[in-house]
Amino acid sequence: MSKTFYIETYGCQMNVYDSACISSLLTGAGMTKAEFLEQADAVIINSCAVRGHAEERVLGRVGELKGLKTNKPGLKLILCGCVAQEQGKTLLELFKHLDAVIGTKNYAELPDILIRLFNEDLKQCRDDMSLSPEENGLGPDFTGQVTAQLAVMRGCNNHCSYCIVPYVRGPETSRPAPAVLGDMERLARQGIKEVTLVGQNVNSYHWQDLNFPKLLQQSCRVEGIERIRFITSHPKDLSDELIAVMAEQPRVCQHLHLPLQAGSDRILALMNRRYTIGHFMSLTEKARQAMPELVLTTDIIAGFPGETEGEFQETLAAVQAIRFDAAFTYKYSERPGTRACGLEGNIPEPEKLDRLNRLIKLQQQITIESNRADIGKTYEVLVEKESKKAKGQFMGRTGGNKTVAVNSSRELKPGQTVKVKIEKATQATLVGEVIQ
Ligand code: SF4
Repeated sequence: MSKTFYIETYGCQMNVYDSACISSLLTGAGMTKAEFLEQADAVIINSCAVRGHAEERVLGRVGELKGLKTNKPGLKLILCGCVAQEQGKTLLELFKHLDAVIGTKNYAELPDILIRLFNEDLKQCRDDMSLSPEENGLGPDFTGQVTAQLAVMRGCNNHCSYCIVPYVRGPETSRPAPAVLGDMERLARQGIKEVTLVGQNVNSYHWQDLNFPKLLQQSCRVEGIERIRFITSHPKDLSDELIAVMAEQPRVCQHLHLPLQAGSDRILALMNRRYTIGHFMSLTEKARQAMPELVLTTDIIAGFPGETEGEFQETLAAVQAIRFDAAFTYKYSERPGTRACGLEGNIPEPEKLDRLNRLIKLQQQITIESNRADIGKTYEVLVEKESKKAKGQFMGRTGGNKTVAVNSSRELKPGQTVKVKIEKATQATLVGEVIQ
């Protein structure tokens, strides 16, 4: 199939990984990646449904692409990912210029679907959730990049009451360890230096007698991969064994993303999170004791149904006490079909926004203090690209996942690890000079 394709990705790291798998699937079928969307014969939008806003953004983008399709009638426009799974063929009714809707378990069919679209021009919808989420056997294609995502598991059994993921990604399935490690070796051959192992809850990983800490240990033996991260850890399942592997293995980055979501035990129970704030705090203390340089990040929702001002204050107090290095903060967003939809006590939008703003303000203060505490320290930074803003400056990240603008009098190459002394800090970036 001598056609070109372009993929636009929205949402989480699992979607980044899925897009890389779609890319290898289509290049394997003879298609070529287009550099720009306007050049492509097929445009694939990989969508996110985790919040109402993310979904509106994706659907807005599909609407915008109508003009491109009018100017280039042979173009094929495909929506895949979580919004495709959630809304299915109704999207083909809603957007007449859309050619296909592909659910989260049907990616492997994409080459065949595209051949049919180019030959017969018949609209297609594939959203069969009963399929097992098989990888395509080709592994993800991250050619030309320094970092990559790699799924160890898919789906989720936790059913947090606000979350749509179990409905659009299905139940938890762990990938066989040999497949994960084989993909990692392939990534090393592509020149990848850093791999993020992804799963909706990596701590639930199990294949035969292998749990996630053991898989992580085995991943550290893959030659050529210098750094390994993972996301996401559910606090109810974070084990001492995982903390010990993180502390012992030099290739595992000392960065832990541990979603708090709320600081009140009553709200955590309504969210079906299955931990208390006391348990969460004991985990963070244990992790920091084992890894004094640990960078700790989190996700927090403001304005969950029924959350009182006092309960929101408990979240602020938890943030103040734990002092996360950074946080992704959101207003509660109702997702159709989830259990939280039926809960009473919807918080009015202005109140939700006010709580979110207070949370952001507090976290911004803590983040800048955390970054300023890095001034004068030396970190190993993996260089990812040249800075667009300043000549002689390169962008990279520390093991703790902090972004660093690296000033260097000599040329640095993406994939190179350099020692950098931090001289300045803003809320988003550290700035430093190469010392080695
Ligand atoms: S653990 Fe909870 S929040 Fe995370 S994907 Fe599963 S249901 Fe959603």
